Amino acid sequence: MELSAFGVIGLGVMGSSLSLNIADKGFSLSVYNRIAPGEEHMVSDLLDRRTDAMSIQGFSDLEDFIASLQRPRKILIMIKAGKALDHVIDALLPLLLQGDIIIDGGNSHFSDTKQRCENLRKKNVHFIGCGVSGGEEGALKGPSLMVGGNHQAYQSISEVFEAIAGKDKNGLPCCTYVGQDGSGHFVKMVHNGIEYAEMQLLAELYALLRDYYSNVEIAELFKTWNQSDLGGYLLEITIDILTKKEGDDYILDTILDKAGNKGTGSWSSKVALDLGSVNTMMASSVFARYVSSFKSMRVALSKSANRLKIKNEFQIEALEKAYRFARIINHYQGFALITNGSQENSWSVDCSEVARIWTNGCIIRSDFMEASIEYLKDGKTYFEVDDLRNQLRDGEADIKSLLTLGLENNVSVNTFYSAYDYWLSMTSENLSANLIQAQRDYFGAHTYQKNGYPEDQYFHTNWTE
Ligand code: NDP
Repeated sequence: MELSAFGVIGLGVMGSSLSLNIADKGFSLSVYNRIAPGEEHMVSDLLDRRTDAMSIQGFSDLEDFIASLQRPRKILIMIKAGKALDHVIDALLPLLLQGDIIIDGGNSHFSDTKQRCENLRKKNVHFIGCGVSGGEEGALKGPSLMVGGNHQAYQSISEVFEAIAGKDKNGLPCCTYVGQDGSGHFVKMVHNGIEYAEMQLLAELYALLRDYYSNVEIAELFKTWNQSDLGGYLLEITIDILTKKEGDDYILDTILDKAGNKGTGSWSSKVALDLGSVNTMMASSVFARYVSSFKSMRVALSKSANRLKIKNEFQIEALEKAYRFARIINHYQGFALITNGSQENSWSVDCSEVARIWTNGCIIRSDFMEASIEYLKDGKTYFEVDDLRNQLRDGEADIKSLLTLGLENNVSVNTFYSAYDYWLSMTSENLSANLIQAQRDYFGAHTYQKNGYPEDQYFHTNWTE
């Protein structure tokens, strides 16, 4: 038996697409799926999809699968994150040898990945946590791959990963070594947090516009935006969605307004809170999904609300500029979270390189992401780019118009508000935190600093004396 260069465990949506992609690039491959009741066909289904040029061996026995791989074994696991992954790793370990490499391409929490790297290091097995973005089509045709873990182990798998990844506009792979242990999964988590807010901004625009325009008219408007610097994958698919019909109905109009989620948006927001990172836009998008899920309660309570819509004229150009404004803030907050996570974990993540691998193969690819490679070079942030700061300054009036339109038409535009409020606060010389400090000192003797005094000097007042 010829030994395969690479192995994949888990032939669900992502595992099977990545397997075909790997085999299509000329690497010999072994694949394994457990035999679960009703799922016995997984391996044969995959083998049925291979072309003559592909070298794929299929297994339902783990020992045979491992024995079919060249050493050091390189095994990509594409299964549900959490306990299932730990069970598979536990089953693999007795079969592995020093220097073998396990790669987790699932959506694992970065802290679990850190722990697994540590545990497996003690057993002389390399563990790599790889964020994979792009969904089923991306996995098949070229995903964006965010790799974290041992650098030497990455070098052993980079040939395969760089071959299967999407390519940027210069033909370079949208795959990079992000840093040690959980960094790849951290960056993927933030990717999803940014994605949540990008999606919610479009949903809020749609909610505002549908009172004035038909689906087709909104799609036409978005088409013009998509041809500008606002262009991107999410705007592109929204245009398709707005105009897709089933019989006489637009499918969008028939979909229940309850948004689902798989948790990565809330992970980003929770981690932001832990790190002291301000990620208000992704947090408000997560909460918007949660609020949407209370459908029956919303329907019942809507009877108690008596709202009039004020259908005012508005400048469509203001919405376009407000959208641009909010996207800058969203990306700023997202990359700030990566920077904060990187500092906390000593990862040295290069945000410009992350932007580069997000220009293709992933959901948040866009013209702005393309431009971000340059904006974020040498550790710079968006706020250090004159052109972007000017856009934010000049866009203030436009985002206020959008917020006013939301208020007048009773449309929730909280994610836009979060963008505006962040900029407002970050550009305010004086906030009201002096009152907070006085209150804290009043009830808890927490002390406060004073204007005009050194920052390391703290004061306390006996407020009731
Ligand atoms: P699927 O549900 O399509 O496939 C899951 C796979 O995991 C199946 O092969 C399943 O085997 C296997 N599996 C589940 N539980 C166990 C277990 N206890 N032991 C062994 N194998 C098990 O999932 P996806 O392919 O969509 O996702 C795989 C991973 O990739 C997940 O972590 C997901 O979050 C992540 N991901 C998904 C993306 C997407 O767009 N779908 C994008 C990026 C990452 P069986 O068929 O026998 O149940």
